Amino acid sequence: MTTLLLVEDDEDLRDVVVRALRNDTVQVIEAEDGVAALEVIDSQGLPDLILLDMNMPVMNGWELARVLRERGLWHVPVIVITAAHDAARSAHDIGATAYLGKPFDLATLHSVVASALPKVSAHV
Ligand SMILES: [Mg+2]
Repeated sequence: MTTLLLVEDDEDLRDVVVRALRNDTVQVIEAEDGVAALEVIDSQGLPDLILLDMNMPVMNGWELARVLRERGLWHVPVIVITAAHDAARSAHDIGATAYLGKPFDLATLHSVVASALPKVSAHV
């Protein structure tokens, strides 16, 4: 089973992404902010890929990236999901693998996820 961790405060967007990516071999775990994401990682270990919104209450994407680096947990591919005009810069700022500018279509979602995580490309 491939595990994706989706860190995003917009519940409607989470629903769209989960429905698009979840299948028999891909599990999508949802976290509504960075603190919730850390709880998932602490209890279940690192996922195979993190989809990370930058602007979130409680703990945003920049803060979560910093904590993961401090803990030596930055060896997982991370796709930044944020407003299109900020996406490339935000991804560069935190050293993310790839980015997805909002709004995005499902074909783009699939192709960015597939390229960030080649081993699940056959499944997503
Ligand atoms: Mg947000």
